[in-house]
Amino acid sequence: MSSKIPRTHIIGAGLAGLAAATRLSGLGHAVTLYEAVGHAGGRVRSFHDPVLDRLIDNGNHLVLSGNTSLTAYLDETGASQGLCRADAVFPFVNVRTGVRWSLRPNAGPLPWWVLAPSRRPPGTSASAFLSALKFWRADADVVVSDVLSDDHPLFETFWAPLALAVLNTPLDRAAAKPLWPVLVETFLRGAASCRPLFAPDGLSAGFIDPALTHLRRCGAVIKFRQRLRAIESNEQRVVALNFSDCSVSLGPTDSVLLAIPHNGAQSILPGIGAPSGGQAIVNAHFRLPSAPLFDAPFIGLVGAAAHWVFVRGDVASVTISAADHWVDQSITAIADAIWPDVARAIRLDGAPRPIFRIIKERRATFSQTPRNMQLRPGPTTDFKNLYLAGDWTNTGLPATIEGAVRSGHHAAIKVDQSQQPRRPD
Ligand SMILES: Cc1cc2nc3c(=O)[nH]c(=O)nc-3n(C[C@H](O)[C@H](O)[C@H](O)COP(=O)(O)OP(=O)(O)OC[C@H]3O[C@@H](n4cnc5c(N)ncnc54)[C@H](O)[C@@H]3O)c2cc1C
Repeated sequence: MSSKIPRTHIIGAGLAGLAAATRLSGLGHAVTLYEAVGHAGGRVRSFHDPVLDRLIDNGNHLVLSGNTSLTAYLDETGASQGLCRADAVFPFVNVRTGVRWSLRPNAGPLPWWVLAPSRRPPGTSASAFLSALKFWRADADVVVSDVLSDDHPLFETFWAPLALAVLNTPLDRAAAKPLWPVLVETFLRGAASCRPLFAPDGLSAGFIDPALTHLRRCGAVIKFRQRLRAIESNEQRVVALNFSDCSVSLGPTDSVLLAIPHNGAQSILPGIGAPSGGQAIVNAHFRLPSAPLFDAPFIGLVGAAAHWVFVRGDVASVTISAADHWVDQSITAIADAIWPDVARAIRLDGAPRPIFRIIKERRATFSQTPRNMQLRPGPTTDFKNLYLAGDWTNTGLPATIEGAVRSGHHAAIKVDQSQQPRRPD
């Protein structure tokens, strides 16, 4: 590799790495992207499932139009055109009572929708939404259930579904503070910032493949099946990258951007402070006899073990967040346990359980406790040419797609700033 043109070596082709690579390529940097496995996307991927004979995603991913880092990435990679923007309507059903409702944020920045009974959960008052301010004022060591007890009128119908989806951690352990920026960037900005984005042909086609095409067009080098095992350093600079079956020497002006999950980063950089532990998400995919007569792309479940159902064609895909207590159960036990509520939610009450596929992501995110939140490092390290990205780094956001993309952008800015004096005109 030439030592004259500074090159950024990006490790990990999840959304953090892809966002960083895209941003740096756009700024005129030379980029090489290394990915441990044979495909990009990391925790965001699709595949053909032979049991269902359908293309499925590893798990449902709910992202909103107010995720501005993500939408910038989608625009930069040309992926925006391939996505569908649904209306800002969030349907729910209480499977115990059968009561259905929809949250309907209004257009414009003032959230007057909470004043309209038809736009908020039944039996709640507008004043109950003032509880949002408690998240604004929450200290860093406070957990969600300290902020709101489970007898709060909005706990079951709004805060618990939102907090579990965003923090993927039991609410008596989940840090409250990171919910506030999520509210500010989406629900408090009005309907235009709350439109769910869907990839009709799957997550890989919607969020990942366009970035690979764009990067190749920009001249980036993309290498699969390259697992970084160790780095070599000299005087606070990384000088070589040791992969499973080869070593890459770095030029004196090259940079490294490590965009791999927290446990992998810690084994390569044992000295860095980082969150510990992981939280599972279990996804169940049911292939229905036919597309259901259900008129929404997704629905939230209250009073059920499952939390969300997304419907695409004749497949109903179900999310169970903070699912550590489910992962050791058999796949049949999981499918049998959740199917009756899923069927009820999508108006197939009493239908026999169809064929299914269960995907257990044991480390879907790090455990988003107050302590772990405080251990998140920023993009710079003790090495002058080594930068960090990933949903576990300190973005101020929870470990989400938006957080991963934003971390990639933050790290890319640092790399770019470090190269400014050297870059040719
Ligand atoms: C089932 C599930 C549901 C989710 N639902 C949502 C949701 O609804 N909304 C939302 O916003 N977020 C959701 N998330 C979280 C979201 O997927 C992640 O926050 C995000 O994808 C993390 O991206 P990342 O780039 O930081 O990490 P990753 O996607 O993990 O990417 C890291 C990449 O690095 C590679 N790698 C690892 N080690 C090495 C190595 N040593 N050398 C080279 N490469 C390596 C990996 O193979 C991987 O491709 C969900 C996650 C899961 C698992």
